[in-house]
Amino acid sequence: MKQSVKLIAGNWKMNGSAASLAEIEAMKADAAMSPWQAEVVVFPPAPLIDRVSRAVGTAPIGVGAQDCRAEASGAFTGCVSAEILHDAGARWVILGHSERRHGLRETDAVVAAKVEGALRAGLHPIVCVGETLEQRDAGQAEAVVAAQVTASLPEALSGRDFTLAYEPVWAIGSGRTPTTEEIARMHAVIADAVAARLGEAAVARILYGGSVNPTNAPDILATPGVDGALVGGASLKAEDFLAIIRAV
Ligand code: PEP
Repeated sequence: MKQSVKLIAGNWKMNGSAASLAEIEAMKADAAMSPWQAEVVVFPPAPLIDRVSRAVGTAPIGVGAQDCRAEASGAFTGCVSAEILHDAGARWVILGHSERRHGLRETDAVVAAKVEGALRAGLHPIVCVGETLEQRDAGQAEAVVAAQVTASLPEALSGRDFTLAYEPVWAIGSGRTPTTEEIARMHAVIADAVAARLGEAAVARILYGGSVNPTNAPDILATPGVDGALVGGASLKAEDFLAIIRAV
């Protein structure tokens, strides 16, 4: 059965430094004041994972990575495996983010191999899918997203908990979002595609991502089929991120 607790995930992208630990301290203080109704995970750049994990301590904040290499180890200069990330304290990993699919030409097959790597190392994957504006304007959004789901999820996910994030490429960092009706419709398409790929018993939480902020979060998080949010820009300041967490 699908978990009912919503997930709020903060993708710091290529931002942050040791000074960002102050944001973690602010989040810990807030969580200590009164319990959050959401599960919360932050995704700092890989070199900060160890420090952020230590700063989190026993607070209810998960820590994840923004990507991993599919292989466990080897001659891959500059790359980081899921095993290395786990060793550094990560328990989650974002895979197939549009900035990697489009900026770095990462294919569905590469994403699927990385998901297998994440499962091997004990990381919980968040697999991102989403259409470009051209694809939406051409009426292809649902077909494109369903095809990404089918090709990015390996068989190994059958019977496992995992998370998907619907992130329309045109909504990321743009200040534009789909209507809540469009989000609900796409989340239903994704749920159908997951069931077709992995069977009706598949347990996937489906997040929405793309310009989520403290103002639009209450409506987006109340939309049918939305199990949480993947937040980029608004996760960098604890004040904004906490407002989104408290919107659950
Ligand atoms: C993201 O990077 O996953 C994202 C959704 O970014 P933003 O919230 O800034 O649009």
